[in-house]
Amino acid sequence: MNEKVENVVIVGGACAGYAAALYTSRANLEPLVIEGFRWGGQLQNTTDVENYPGFPEGIMGPELMAKFREQAERFGTRFVTDDATRIELSDGGIQRVWVNDDEYRAQAVILAMGAEPKRLGVPGEIELGGHGVSTCGVCDGAFFKGEDVVVVGGGDSAMEDSIFVAKFAKQLTIVHRRDEFRASKIMLERARKTENIDFKTPFLVEEFVAGDDGKIAAVRLRNVDSGATEELDTGGAFVAIGHTPQSDLVKGQVDTDDNGYVLTRDGSTKTNLAGVFAAGDLVDHTYRQAATAAGTGVMSALDAEWYLRDTPPSPEAPWAGKAGVAQEGEPDEAEAVEA
Ligand code: NAP
Repeated sequence: MNEKVENVVIVGGACAGYAAALYTSRANLEPLVIEGFRWGGQLQNTTDVENYPGFPEGIMGPELMAKFREQAERFGTRFVTDDATRIELSDGGIQRVWVNDDEYRAQAVILAMGAEPKRLGVPGEIELGGHGVSTCGVCDGAFFKGEDVVVVGGGDSAMEDSIFVAKFAKQLTIVHRRDEFRASKIMLERARKTENIDFKTPFLVEEFVAGDDGKIAAVRLRNVDSGATEELDTGGAFVAIGHTPQSDLVKGQVDTDDNGYVLTRDGSTKTNLAGVFAAGDLVDHTYRQAATAAGTGVMSALDAEWYLRDTPPSPEAPWAGKAGVAQEGEPDEAEAVEA
């Protein structure tokens, strides 16, 4: 076992985790990031990112993530490039994170494991990612100006993506596997009233078909009732069938909602457990943007910093008896307790 007790361990290597690492490392907390074997999160599978502020020419997703990581590293962040395999949370005590047999202990933990878009699991879906198949209408809709496009799904995400993407597309077809929709009435009505949106139900997508140029050219659909198949030409396809927050490792330990998103309190990143903070898409089922994930990552770093400042250090902590991270000129409660 690793005897050291870290100030803060961050679980997750994408927008929220790296932003938290940047801020905690600049606060001299020497964060340790368990970044995952395939660090970089959803942007790692994205090509052009045109909506991350500060990059007027746009930037490739993997490059943006590499820059996030590099910036955190510059201030002393340490990384474990492997997946967390077990997490044991405590209410105000030592937080424990395992990577296989290696245990990491910390006074505070920031959970930033993100969410994964659900996939249909059909041929062409992964292969054409970044070449016409997308899981984020708000991110990629503007690339499909004047194109015929397809959105798959029947929930609010599908309606929201459709209404947004229809502003750019020539014609948009919502493909859904049932005649009934899970989406809220108001969102469904909005989509129905949009002139260039039509609906195709009950149809399942069997394949995303590539053209000679390697980009999507069509979707092969199967009528659920009749079993008949047909091809629909398309210049783009959005899979909008929901997201899965990556909260399995902490489920049952920290409060989550019915869909598994970690619940935070009072407009902060605090969870129901002292010393446990959560940020990014693991918490957010509404905005889900790189910039908002980075923003809540920053919030989690500040929340963790203030928590460490205001919490008497455990006798196990390497900085026990020191000033912790108290700001210059501010009273240090840790010292006050010891005095
Ligand atoms: P959702 O409500 O779970 O809807 C997922 C949709 O995808 C359902 O229509 C489902 O079909 C379909 N689907 C799932 N797996 C499929 C598969 N393998 N093949 C074909 N279709 C499949 O997910 P969501 O739309 O992401 O919404 C999640 C939550 O966030 C909801 O509470 C929603 O209200 C909320 N949300 C709100 C807003 C907003 O208010 N602006 C925007 C987005 C999301 P079936 O219906 O047949 O199961």
